[in-house]
Amino acid sequence: MGGVDPLRVPKSGAFSVSTQFSKLPPLRLQSSPSGTKKDVIPLIPDHLGIYVCGPTIYDRIHLGNARCLVVFDVLFRLAQKLYQRVTYVRNITDVDDKINVQAQNLGISIHQLTKQTFAWFESDTQALGLLEPTHQPRATEFVDQMIGLTAALLEKKAAYVASGHVLFSVKSWAPYGQLARMPIDQMKAGARVEIAPYKQDPLDFVLWKPSEDHEPGWESPWGRGRPGWHTECAVMSAHYLGSIFDIHGGGRDLLFPHHENERAQTCLLSGQDDCAKTWMHTDMLTVGGQKMSKSLGNFITLHDALQQVPADVLRWALLSSHYRHCLDWTPQVVQQAKACVVGVYQALAAHNEVSKAPGAEMADILAMKGFDGLLDLPTSAALLDDLNTPQALAGLVAIAQKLRKDPENTQLAQQILVTGSVLGLFCHSPAQWLDQARPQGLSPQEIQELIDQRHQAREARDFAKADEIRSCLAKAGVVLEDKAPGQTLWRTRL
Ligand SMILES: [Zn+2]
Repeated sequence: MGGVDPLRVPKSGAFSVSTQFSKLPPLRLQSSPSGTKKDVIPLIPDHLGIYVCGPTIYDRIHLGNARCLVVFDVLFRLAQKLYQRVTYVRNITDVDDKINVQAQNLGISIHQLTKQTFAWFESDTQALGLLEPTHQPRATEFVDQMIGLTAALLEKKAAYVASGHVLFSVKSWAPYGQLARMPIDQMKAGARVEIAPYKQDPLDFVLWKPSEDHEPGWESPWGRGRPGWHTECAVMSAHYLGSIFDIHGGGRDLLFPHHENERAQTCLLSGQDDCAKTWMHTDMLTVGGQKMSKSLGNFITLHDALQQVPADVLRWALLSSHYRHCLDWTPQVVQQAKACVVGVYQALAAHNEVSKAPGAEMADILAMKGFDGLLDLPTSAALLDDLNTPQALAGLVAIAQKLRKDPENTQLAQQILVTGSVLGLFCHSPAQWLDQARPQGLSPQEIQELIDQRHQAREARDFAKADEIRSCLAKAGVVLEDKAPGQTLWRTRL
């Protein structure tokens, strides 16, 4: 594969301009292999490179996927305030066996499926307020480079051809397993490694596999076939960020084997110890202690969640646990998030200038002009300390409480808005947002009137009518709790 340099290393740039918030302490992140926090010092001064494994586009994403995306969206937003330049690459896997199976199940072409799913992904993530990454490469655009990388590994005798497949030999790279921090035996036992008779070692993984006529395929020196998933990310990360870059992220479930395998390929060719200075992994979103996943069927799609819950509330809920810890998804988590978001928006609405600010431009207008941004804020200290979002959210609640007592304090309003701009929160006009967040347009007064009517119906022993009113309120997202005769509490359900 002459001419293809699979591991292009970018030249160091001269980005010497001081950053907007250069007086801040450095960002510290915990890297998965070491388990210790360390300062993030970009390889290219003032230019941070981030690669995050994006979706395989075969179906709508669920909240577990959304959690990972929101965490890295916050990292991207924070990095943009810290460094002169940030290159954030999040790939799209558009060639994968899951896609082939789903297209077959639905009786549509792979092109139709990936086109539709990508459009869903774009609209759902926009609705959640995710910023567009700097680059969003698709695997199918890089197949030549993947063939080049596979050929280079064969040349180095780190790979072999067997039964039409090209496999990476894990024995060829001694540090294999150091990212996942698992001994080889445990990896064999714990990993869902595809057992295949043509593998020399059960941990060897596919770089290239043959395609049947009905499967997508590209011509290669090893016949018509398609790349392995791990090779896709190795090529795309190296193309945009070089063979070693600052931060590689993804969900914890990608740590092994995906990231381990990606790292082995890149490092074997580059001769470097690692392909990322920091590996960041977000832990699982669980439901009743079980991982939210397509295979278990216990998932809520991001699209469905956004029909019921405002994006600010979803983001708050998804960020309410530290990214390295599990987050169990319960109605209470959402309810608490809504109470907090409403409380902060109410505090902002009481501020004269903010309440009149024009929606999305509010953060820019108020937060950035003549204000030292994140300096000296407890929320910024929390975010710079391994992206401690729960602590930053608690800080926001505390600032909002102060603002309620001192509604015209512009500095407090600015603190909320600038922190919100990093967390992707509070960029709507407060009055407008609060109006839309009311369930089905029912005001508290209207809800109380319906509750009073229900009490009257119960007193008249018209239980059918009382039940009907309860059911109407339930449809409007209002849950009733009877405390004593004639005394009913209500709350909104999300
Ligand atoms: Zn990946």
